[in-house]
Amino acid sequence: MTFHATISGYADPAMHAQGLYIGGKWEKGAGIPVIDPSSGAVLAEVPDASVNDALRAVDAAEAAATGWRRTPPRQRSEILRRWFQLMTQHGEELALLISLENGKALPDARGELAYAAEFFRWYAEEATRIPGEYRHTPSGAHNILVDHEPIGISVLITPWNFPAAMATRKIGPALAAGCTVILKPASETPLTAYAMARLGEEAGVPPGVVNVLTTTNPAGVTNAMLADPRVRKLSFTGSTGVGRQLLAEAAKTVVSCSMELGGNAPFVVFDDADLEAALDGAMIAKMRNAGEACTAANRFYVQAGIHDAFVNGLTARMAALKIGPGYDPATQCGPMITPRAVQKIDHLVSNAIELGARATTGGAPLVGDGYFYPPTVLDNVDVNSAIAREEIFGPVAPVYKFETEDQVIELANNTEYGLAAYVYTRDMKRAMRVGKGIETGMVGINRGLMSDPAAPFGGVKQSGLGREGGVTGILEFMEAKYFAVEF
Ligand code: NAD
Repeated sequence: MTFHATISGYADPAMHAQGLYIGGKWEKGAGIPVIDPSSGAVLAEVPDASVNDALRAVDAAEAAATGWRRTPPRQRSEILRRWFQLMTQHGEELALLISLENGKALPDARGELAYAAEFFRWYAEEATRIPGEYRHTPSGAHNILVDHEPIGISVLITPWNFPAAMATRKIGPALAAGCTVILKPASETPLTAYAMARLGEEAGVPPGVVNVLTTTNPAGVTNAMLADPRVRKLSFTGSTGVGRQLLAEAAKTVVSCSMELGGNAPFVVFDDADLEAALDGAMIAKMRNAGEACTAANRFYVQAGIHDAFVNGLTARMAALKIGPGYDPATQCGPMITPRAVQKIDHLVSNAIELGARATTGGAPLVGDGYFYPPTVLDNVDVNSAIAREEIFGPVAPVYKFETEDQVIELANNTEYGLAAYVYTRDMKRAMRVGKGIETGMVGINRGLMSDPAAPFGGVKQSGLGREGGVTGILEFMEAKYFAVEF
């Protein structure tokens, strides 16, 4: 791995990894440039793993598997706990690294880092509480004993928008359950993953328990690992399109899949809502990571009586945000990840404007270095616009006016996605009714942020399969084994 001037000026390269991490060894290499999205400059270069490298990682994960599953839960727990402590200790440096390679503003990066580290602490605690079950058969004549065993070698694939948290949300429960893993982070943001692996090594994770590789051939590398009968689990976070392809691939060897996919979150504001609280929540739900979040509010449905005040308030707040490189401490809205991401946002906004929407602030990409799109509010958006169906993944808030509760539930459900929804009202009965009516895995009620390692995170419909975090997250990496017992 080569570090270029830009990165060495900001972060200590000694903390970072040297290359592919397989079987506890760092293998030097190059081939994948990592770009600073605020300037387009190359930050570093990381190795480009081949199919053969990936299969060597499976060999390493297999060599470590028996030892790790037999390591007492208390010991696995203590390693995870030390990893949490090291992540916290190196928090500022890791946050800077996240900001550099992902572009997100430093406060967002710090928030992600704390959230990411917390998965290690949470699963350090859960490692020692793996549930079992004992009951009588209905006849009363026999006994049912249920054990949970580690599922086996797990392939973990993560996106670029939360380079630390999406990895720890998988590694934490997998290691707590007793599984060995191969992590393939997104090529846009591999430095954070490698840096975390370095800390894992320091925390005492044995060689081969966690392997990390980056590649420009994600399909080839992943398909080869899925075809290997030693691999028993795929845990993927990313787009619904890639998730569908991976489900089809995993079907060939019947590999267990957990899928955290895309979203199209509705943010519903009723007339009786506390306007200031709704605006605060809207800014968090929309602008965390400059809108590059799967839970990001993607459609603002605002009841007619509060609509104008909400649009004015949101416009003022969005227009006041300071745009700049994520690692500049003054920045509130960083760049998008790639020029392609800016083009997609531009296309969605232009299409909405063609269909009658009005930009009350923003509305066109910024010209100059880096991949910037300004905070934008669109009013009077036509529900048939592409922006109503597709993930924006950027700092754009489209607002739609609605009249009745039934109407807004129908509008909210008019999507293939079902990850997150937000409801603002002072009437708790209505909040619960609407929350239940919206087909989604998570609902924020008078809250703009729902992510919490202690809560089950995940979606319904085409937003995914399974849940991460919470008390059930560890079971995604375990298989129930039933013993029919005669005493
Ligand atoms: P993506 O699907 O393009 O890529 C995700 C990961 O999959 C990357 O590591 C990528 O290299 C890899 N990949 C791409 N094609 C692959 C293939 N054919 N086989 C195997 N791996 C492949 O997604 P992205 O652009 O990195 O991330 C943004 C998407 O992730 C959004 O849709 C967002 O909603 C979703 N996301 C979901 C959650 C969640 O928890 N539900 C969280 C964060 C992001």
